[in-house]
Amino acid sequence: MDIRVDLYEYQARDLFERRGVPVLRGLVARTPEEAAAAMEQLGTPVVVVKAQVKTGGRGKAGGVKLARNPQEAADRAREILGLDIKGHVVEQVMVAEGADIAEEYYFSLLLDRASRTYLAMCSVEGGMDIETLAEERPEALARIPVDPRTGIDWAKADEIVAAAGFAEEDRRRVARVLGTLGRVFIDEDATLVEVNPLVKTKQGDILALDGKVTLDDNARFRHPEHAAFEDASSADPLEARAQEKGLNYVKLDGSVGVIGNGAGLVMSTLDVVAKAGEDLPGTPRPANFLDIGGGASAQVMANGLEIILSDPQVESVFVNVFGGITACNEVANGIVAAMKMLGERATKPLVVRLDGNAVEIGRQILHEFDHPLVTVVDTMDHAARRAAELASAASSSEDPQNQTEQKGA
Ligand code: GDP
Ligand code: MN
Repeated sequence: MDIRVDLYEYQARDLFERRGVPVLRGLVARTPEEAAAAMEQLGTPVVVVKAQVKTGGRGKAGGVKLARNPQEAADRAREILGLDIKGHVVEQVMVAEGADIAEEYYFSLLLDRASRTYLAMCSVEGGMDIETLAEERPEALARIPVDPRTGIDWAKADEIVAAAGFAEEDRRRVARVLGTLGRVFIDEDATLVEVNPLVKTKQGDILALDGKVTLDDNARFRHPEHAAFEDASSADPLEARAQEKGLNYVKLDGSVGVIGNGAGLVMSTLDVVAKAGEDLPGTPRPANFLDIGGGASAQVMANGLEIILSDPQVESVFVNVFGGITACNEVANGIVAAMKMLGERATKPLVVRLDGNAVEIGRQILHEFDHPLVTVVDTMDHAARRAAELASAASSSEDPQNQTEQKGA
């Protein structure tokens, strides 16, 4: 089972502080009055009022604002509290000491399941949306594998800062912070530690100004103190439900639901779906990540399908399974049983691609099932294309209705 515990920024800040990562002071506030009081307590000339939601891009969404006195802090908090940021309603803000930023960098360390190692990513061009940077100027984002046995030691830290292109005079100080972040990752059993931005202040200090930390719940037994971080209620509601069912599900923004077995296969399925949808009307994209793991029983398949079909954005589902220990015939039986279990709750077309162990029997089972919503396609590329086309067609047939609704409003 693979369950993640995402921390709020203020929790990551507290964790960083305990572990010796340089951060600025910050206090949580749930009301404008508390925000004003927090600023008085901090006693700094400038504070930053930051939405505490478990999603990125808060800055762009108006969830990060400067204030120069307690009255302003209260006003900014009033604007930010209650904001809806990508479906997350802001219930608390962090009032943090303001930094005099000279430069913004990017750093992350994550568990790279595909290559079974840790991966550090670092750039001297941080602050902005890192996906955009990775896409438009991949050379500006250094990617350095990190051996889990050594973590980020001095040699590794030097390698990372050199690859990222830090100025000679900053390298030593940045490397020290990266080493500390590496220890946070390992000692806390994290699967992600991301700092964006890591900044250099005008005074020359290196600080982690924003922190995103995901803890590996499999290591919970080693960290009873992590229980304090869990709150299923504020995670995405679908993710929370998936978590209750022990599914490894991450909600994304697209319309093509994706189910597969094995994290690597699911990751590449996301890429293939995104690629297939690129030139279609509405450019359909993956709606989620869902890995049902090796033993895809009918119940697990039904649970997975049910979660995906509860996402109102989903227009089609791509089931991409490679038969291994659980052979394709069992997977096919799982799909059949899942469709029967779901009955009328199964409303969107399913494109199924099976390969591997007992593939012929698996396909045969689905052909005989002959369900109007289930299509079997033999290759991953063709199946992705078909699923993307179905999603594209569904969304463009909804468009005229949307337009009339808008006119009427
Ligand atoms: P995100 O948009 O959710 O990633 O939120 P961040 O915490 O990364 O803040 C977004 C941006 O706000 C940063 O990249 C900075 O440019 C700016 N910002 C955040 N904290 C401070 C601060 O203390 N001082 C100043 N001047 N800018 C800040
Ligand atoms: Mn950030």
